[in-house]
Amino acid sequence: MNDLNNANLATERSLEIMRNFAQRYAERTNTYFCADPSITAVVIEGLAKHKDDLGSPLCPCRHYEDKEAEVKTAYWNCPCVPMQERKECHCMLFLTPDNEFAGDRQDISLEEIRATTKGEFSATKQEA
Ligand code: SF4
Repeated sequence: MNDLNNANLATERSLEIMRNFAQRYAERTNTYFCADPSITAVVIEGLAKHKDDLGSPLCPCRHYEDKEAEVKTAYWNCPCVPMQERKECHCMLFLTPDNEFAGDRQDISLEEIRATTKGEFSATKQEA
């Protein structure tokens, strides 16, 4: 499995779960993925990696002193409270149609995600 060659990539199982979640949630909330699909890919990969490591899809676009404690508060578990309450996604995964960065898609393939994230993460840090 190529997944196992890189500690920074999520398992394909979690990636598929988070990809499906993102597609369904975008449809349900009438939001769209970014016009630049590499943004969508990196965020979904980050969510899936947190699901693998922490058991929950903690928002990947923030710094945390203690990730386990953050998961317990649930505030930044995707979809986070700002997204649920105000449709604010600072990761630019879910964009309202009036957002200048919004594309016209609510879907992304596994292949599209990995085409981006394999290159993004393969030469970077090795820490989990
Ligand atoms: S900002 Fe919120 S909705 Fe957007 S990816 Fe992070 S947790 Fe999910």
